[in-house]
Amino acid sequence: MSENITIHAYDLTREKRNARHQHQSFVLWFTGLSGSGKSTIANKVESALFEKQKQVYSLDGDNIRSGINKGLGFTKEDRKENLRRIAEVAKLFVDAGHISVAAFVSPLASDRALVKTIIGEKDFIEIFVDTSLEECERRDVKGLYQKARAGEIKNFTGIDAPYEAPKKPAIHIKTEEKTVDQAVEEILNYIDNLI
Ligand code: ADP
Repeated sequence: MSENITIHAYDLTREKRNARHQHQSFVLWFTGLSGSGKSTIANKVESALFEKQKQVYSLDGDNIRSGINKGLGFTKEDRKENLRRIAEVAKLFVDAGHISVAAFVSPLASDRALVKTIIGEKDFIEIFVDTSLEECERRDVKGLYQKARAGEIKNFTGIDAPYEAPKKPAIHIKTEEKTVDQAVEEILNYIDNLI
């Protein structure tokens, strides 16, 4: 099939959309353990950008997994396919002139490298939400760690599946040393230069 696909050059480009919105578009990619604070911080960043009249849209593990990625599980292959599709969707939002906010555990460096390749290095801003496993387990926001420890959930990141911390994230947030508002401020300051 793919040999019969040709790309049509539309007149309405990303540049024109960016010019109308009066800001650049890119992806804020939040990675970290479950319960580290990705959604909490991403949610506030999105709201703050919206208040500043920016075009912004959040993709989150739960809304994506109940929709476009319904049917994918948590094996290594499924996690990779999950992230590949999310990266393609995030890229479309960037093309549409939006700041795309993506909050996903995305535990493997190789999968995040694939995401970066799909989105493009220039448009991919990696934010490491760094919270110790002990603290995530203590928070246990969704009760998932307890279930994973009891063996009721398999392949749970941090318990019986690995988390590979980013070596050089654009932004490194240590949530045990910062409030949510401080984290949001740090991210807004960082992207101020890009907008
Ligand atoms: P994730 O999206 O990474 O799975 P959530 O955002 O759903 O995590 O949950 C993180 C929990 O940790 C929330 O209940 C949040 O209020 C709490 N929390 C406590 N301190 C912080 C902090 N400094 N930054 C982010 N979240 C924090």
